[in-house]
Amino acid sequence: MRYEHVIVGGGLAGGMVAQEFREQGGDGSVLLIAREPHTPYHRPPLTKGYLRGEAGLDEVYMHPDEWWTEQSVDVRTGTEATAIDPSAHTVTLSGGDSVEYGKLVLATGATPRTLPDTVALRTLDDSQALAKQLDSGSGHLGVIGGGFIGVEAAASARMKGWDVTMAVPESVVWEHLFGAEVARYFQRHLEEHGVHVHTGTKQLPEGSYDVTLAGIGVTPNTQLAEAAGLTVSNGVETDDHLRAGDDVWAIGDIANYQSVVHGKRLRIEHWDVALNQGSYVGRTWAGKEDAPYSVVPYFFSDIGDWTWFEYVGPGSGRVDVRGSMDDDDFVAYYLDDDDHVVACLGVNRSDEVEAAKALISEHRAAPAA
Ligand code: NAP
Repeated sequence: MRYEHVIVGGGLAGGMVAQEFREQGGDGSVLLIAREPHTPYHRPPLTKGYLRGEAGLDEVYMHPDEWWTEQSVDVRTGTEATAIDPSAHTVTLSGGDSVEYGKLVLATGATPRTLPDTVALRTLDDSQALAKQLDSGSGHLGVIGGGFIGVEAAASARMKGWDVTMAVPESVVWEHLFGAEVARYFQRHLEEHGVHVHTGTKQLPEGSYDVTLAGIGVTPNTQLAEAAGLTVSNGVETDDHLRAGDDVWAIGDIANYQSVVHGKRLRIEHWDVALNQGSYVGRTWAGKEDAPYSVVPYFFSDIGDWTWFEYVGPGSGRVDVRGSMDDDDFVAYYLDDDDHVVACLGVNRSDEVEAAKALISEHRAAPAA
């Protein structure tokens, strides 16, 4: 069996390669290998609207099943790539089939870290299981971890009328990401809406919990790449064109890429990065992209329907906040020692966040206050 293009990984990054390749007129056979029993879907709704029952599956899946067939993209769901031989240009699949490839992209994503007697929230199936419990009446959700999964799921469960208690190692939720001043704004929103936030601890207080969710980070799925002899160090190392080897690319959660914007390696576990890196490789394969990958990383989060933010960066440094946190209307610039913008977070300030992308990539100062 031979495909000119093989995509290992059925998440958004992998799905975007196929979508963009076809949209750019890319010709030739495409195989997408997905371990989960689903065609590619978006994860952001899994802790937000879909978990709360406000968004349907049509807002989760990238496309209906028939779209992949119409686009001549062969999607093998429930299938794992078990080995890659870059010199022979082959991928071995669970079940034993071997597929020869012309070009290969690895978009194998990440696996949540787990704790005993807790549930994880990563996949569509995880979200469906938790949604069912949240729908079954009121209860008490314990959340271990103060990352994105923890905060977003805590807010969603609270909106569904559950009691929610969080155990967060940091002294303020999201402090290491955004600094204490901005982090306090988000923690205030959680607490004002009745979430019990226990900081400086990895353990929930004694109590009776109907469900305990662990949102304690993920481990990138790099075993396949490592066994194939690709360079792996905190992810699969790529150059500034997201190439990991001859005719092999790596994207999304696993990609430790050389960023031309930041002048260093980055590995970023966010939806927009998966989307943009997948698009980039799709365009590359269609012969429409030659420049280095230079998108400034962006991410966003919704905390229930209480507040939200957008962020570009990543970076840390002196924080310059403008606007009003009390009115949910502010922008925070993060500045390096030369007062150049390295990151920007905005609450209801999309224009400033968008404009900050250029400030970051051109190493410029923040606009006058
Ligand atoms: P995360 O954002 O990396 O946060 C992990 C949190 O768990 C941190 O607060 C960490 O604290 C804490 N932690 C680590 N080990 C712990 C332990 N043993 N006990 C208690 N707490 C512990 O990871 P996540 O929330 O699990 O999210 C998983 C992935 O999905 C991430 O890559 C995330 O970026 C992504 N995601 C993104 C969004 C979004 O962009 N809006 C939404 C959902 C998920 P320390 O840092 O102090 O160790």
